[in-house]
Amino acid sequence: MGEDAHAGAAMGQTGRTGRRSRFLEFGRLEFCQWSDDLRRWRDDFSSLTQKFLSMLAVRKTARGLGNVEVQDMPEPHPDPGQVLMEVDSAGICGTDLHIYFDEFETNPPVTLGHEVAGEIVGMGKGVRGWKIGQRVTSETYFYTCGECLHCRRGRRNLCVKRRSIGSKADGAFTRYMLTPASNLHRVPDELDLESAALTEPLACVIHGVTLTAQVKAGPR
Ligand SMILES: [Zn+2]
Ligand SMILES: [Zn+2]
Repeated sequence: MGEDAHAGAAMGQTGRTGRRSRFLEFGRLEFCQWSDDLRRWRDDFSSLTQKFLSMLAVRKTARGLGNVEVQDMPEPHPDPGQVLMEVDSAGICGTDLHIYFDEFETNPPVTLGHEVAGEIVGMGKGVRGWKIGQRVTSETYFYTCGECLHCRRGRRNLCVKRRSIGSKADGAFTRYMLTPASNLHRVPDELDLESAALTEPLACVIHGVTLTAQVKAGPR
């Protein structure tokens, strides 16, 4: 019996008519007993759901050398504009090794992994043009400001306030990952998801070779 029950008894004693007071006292005591039971059931239920709705994740737990652990964490839910991806495959990038050695900026505790392909299993409000079950890969932005010069020029990858998946926002080395719907690219039916997880490094290579270094067919 909690403190509320004593408060109920006290209220009963100070009521104006005896009959009404006893009724109030009885009602309050009953209610308190019920609410204790409800609270207990709610706690049992939430620990049960937490058990079933949790997932293992490879996480950087603190800055410094190492500090990478497999941890249990709750399944995420998509906010407006986000989708929930069930990860099929994720690549281990050189960046992940730099993160292990603490040579790359992170915002721990954070789930690693940013080369990813999987299926859409949940969508937040306002997500249009995608549907549950679609096979997708994701770009690596979790947040960009949309206002800096780079963002306004369509170069979100250079945003000064950028927070990336797998270093400053939870990433793909787990079962479920959140990503803004604006990051998504559909995976063609003929491409398996394991290969599709390497879309981001492939895009980096193509950009580097064809746009930055301007290597053309023919030169050796
Ligand atoms: Zn990478
Ligand atoms: Zn920006």
